[in-house]
Amino acid sequence: RDGDLVPALVIGSGYGGAVTALRLTQAGVPTAVVEMGRNWTTPGPDGDVFCDMHNPDGRSFWFRTETDQPLGYFSGGSTNKEIPSAAGVLDSERFAATRVYQGRGVGGGSLVNGGMAVTPKRDYFEEILPSVDADQMYRTFFPRANAALGVNRIDRVWFESADCYRYTRVSRRTAHDAGFDTVFVPNVYDFDYMKREAANQVPRSALATEVIYGNNHGKRTLDKTYLAAAAATGKLSISPLHTVTDVAPTRGGRYAVTMVRIDVDGTTLATKTVTADRVFFAAGSVGTSKLLVAMKAKGRLSDLPDDVGAGWGNNGNVMVGRAGWDLTGALQSCMPSMGIDNWSDSNGPVFAEIAPFPAGTETWINLYLAITKNPHRGTFRFNTTTGQVDLDWQASWTQPSIDAAKRVFDAINAKAGTIYRSDLFGVYKIWGDDFTYHPLGGCVLNEATDNYGRLPGYPGLYVVDGSLVPGSTGVNPFVTITALAERNVEHVIATDIGG
Ligand code: FAD
Repeated sequence: RDGDLVPALVIGSGYGGAVTALRLTQAGVPTAVVEMGRNWTTPGPDGDVFCDMHNPDGRSFWFRTETDQPLGYFSGGSTNKEIPSAAGVLDSERFAATRVYQGRGVGGGSLVNGGMAVTPKRDYFEEILPSVDADQMYRTFFPRANAALGVNRIDRVWFESADCYRYTRVSRRTAHDAGFDTVFVPNVYDFDYMKREAANQVPRSALATEVIYGNNHGKRTLDKTYLAAAAATGKLSISPLHTVTDVAPTRGGRYAVTMVRIDVDGTTLATKTVTADRVFFAAGSVGTSKLLVAMKAKGRLSDLPDDVGAGWGNNGNVMVGRAGWDLTGALQSCMPSMGIDNWSDSNGPVFAEIAPFPAGTETWINLYLAITKNPHRGTFRFNTTTGQVDLDWQASWTQPSIDAAKRVFDAINAKAGTIYRSDLFGVYKIWGDDFTYHPLGGCVLNEATDNYGRLPGYPGLYVVDGSLVPGSTGVNPFVTITALAERNVEHVIATDIGG
């Protein structure tokens, strides 16, 4: 409520926020989480909390009148549909040269992502975050994160015959034929539930085109794992549909946090200011970076280091589709289970997730989200004319990612006698290079913050989310973000809070 005084306030309820909320509440610290999106617990008129990909409505996108799908085209035309503008679960935030997809709601990105739970390769982790003790990460914090997230592995015998993973087996075979390795990838989607979906024993979710607009069943999202455990301590409060707009120090050594409360249609209901002893920025790479850059420019937190806003990357994301000869299946699981691992290729490392194309009909399409090692880094800057924060990123900077992915998929096409689809990301556009699912950086650990996420000059301010990771982690990022938050928050509780 307006005027409240809270010991700890967490901005955002994705991976960084959920870890922070659980560990603080377990240490006995009453914690208030502020989340701009909805609390996704109330069913819509169709009885479901979330809509599926084929029937998008106001639950799908964050305040858009038309969907803005990552694969927005098919056979020469746009596949986007008109929708009522509302506080939907998926945001495609537009900057001058890229779109950034993010989850909106209690649980952040866990609500909309593919659930792929990948621990980064140790040598690459050591390269990107040299100030972090890798032994401790791989011994303690990665296992802790995987356990708390509910990560599980697919039954490989079932996988080999499941109709819904025919697309993955086809892509595996063509990758192997061209000399590339593949690896199974763990997931937070309950694979036992998926088996029962396939056997028609339970309502379908991953097998019913549910993923980027949320899953009604089967997925261990953060509201069911970390945040549920935090709530069970009795020390957690969550305020959904509240957007933090301002953070500034008070005379008494605390922080005044201003937020706007909206309803699902976007109408402003109230503006509140809460005072907090400690504030944890967990608004995601984009949200945290934008907030801190704006606060520095507006003089609220003017002593923040110049590194705030720098070091942003898209995890080298680029998507591509191939037109294959093999049936990939009308029924496809929306939860990927395998990647093509060509990371050791020093000419252009690639880890390519074998992605579904759940059209509900046979398309012969093989789709991939390639994660590459792209050297370019963007910077968030305050625009004094518009009063907004821009992302200084150039369209041409995705070229190294395309080059690396092209080496792999040219080889696969050559061996299989297949070609690229050029109708999925635009008209005659092969590469899906103008968006990312994996924003990282903007407030990099040990550069913009100290080695545990503390913001220099402002005791009691911490960064705990994906903005700490310097633009790349070589695999899908949420396990890295979760484990790093576990490490940092444990240290902060022990040294700053005395837990
Ligand atoms: P987030 O999870 O983004 O959480 C930030 C939260 O803060 C959000 O809920 C947001 O609404 C809230 N917020 C932002 N600004 C404010 C504000 N001013 N006030 C209040 N609240 C605010 N990663 C994987 O590892 N595996 C995958 O399979 C995978 N698939 C993906 C598929 C899609 C479609 C997308 C979009 C992402 C995917 N990701 C995947 C990426 C992963 O979800 C993100 O890396 C992860 O969610 C980032 O965690 P975070 O804690 O940094 O921030």
